[in-house]
Amino acid sequence: MSEQTMRIAALYPDLLNIYADRGNLLMLERRCAWRGIGFELTRSTIGDELDPDAHDLLYLGGGQDRDQQLCAVDLTTVKRDAVHAHAARGGAVLAVCGGYQLLGHHYALEPGVTLPGVGLLDLHTERGEGRLIGNVAIEVDGRTLAGFENHGGRTILAAGQEPLGRVLSGHGNTGVSGFEGARSGNVVGTYLHGPLLPKNAWFADELIASALGVRADELEPLDDRFEDAAHAGARRAAGV
Ligand code: GLN
Repeated sequence: MSEQTMRIAALYPDLLNIYADRGNLLMLERRCAWRGIGFELTRSTIGDELDPDAHDLLYLGGGQDRDQQLCAVDLTTVKRDAVHAHAARGGAVLAVCGGYQLLGHHYALEPGVTLPGVGLLDLHTERGEGRLIGNVAIEVDGRTLAGFENHGGRTILAAGQEPLGRVLSGHGNTGVSGFEGARSGNVVGTYLHGPLLPKNAWFADELIASALGVRADELEPLDDRFEDAAHAGARRAAGV
């Protein structure tokens, strides 16, 4: 395990980083370091080419509509082929909120204004009345992810698209569908900020494992007392 390195490309870290979503990267970095797993972080923003074979995980955080607009154009032109090639060879992708919306087919912001999406997930997003805000907990494969959501977009999954989880408390993709997020193989999108990973260490390990091509139970166990307390606090906040 110690000879492995987790290679991450953070896409648009200067534009997509609300609610301290970069904390997700710190969490991955620390959990790799504690286990003696190497960690390489590349930042790739507007105009930067992306190497489709150079990364184990692509990461996108959340952002304001206007920042998403800049990223949407770049993601669907400059980086489009590389992102698809990365996913097609089994590379992992984690996208939060604004980043999640950009993984779908499009985000209809207002009449006449639609942002293109990169189409890794079979879904689209439409701006709704008011915002879906608050603490949220979802069930994923019998386990709980807890976090915080704040989005104006409602994300509608196509018939065959697997959600990430089922809403236990909070709004999720639309406020009424009962679904939260979406996943397809190693590509995961979610509305959960918090940041997501420091509040859900088990999910961070799932990502590390999927990026490295091992099972999560093959990773060296860590002393997770603080992480467990953070998780419990986030669940309490969501009333779960
Ligand atoms: N701007 C998007 C929306 O409001 C995403 C917001 C976010 O990333 N928190 O739906």
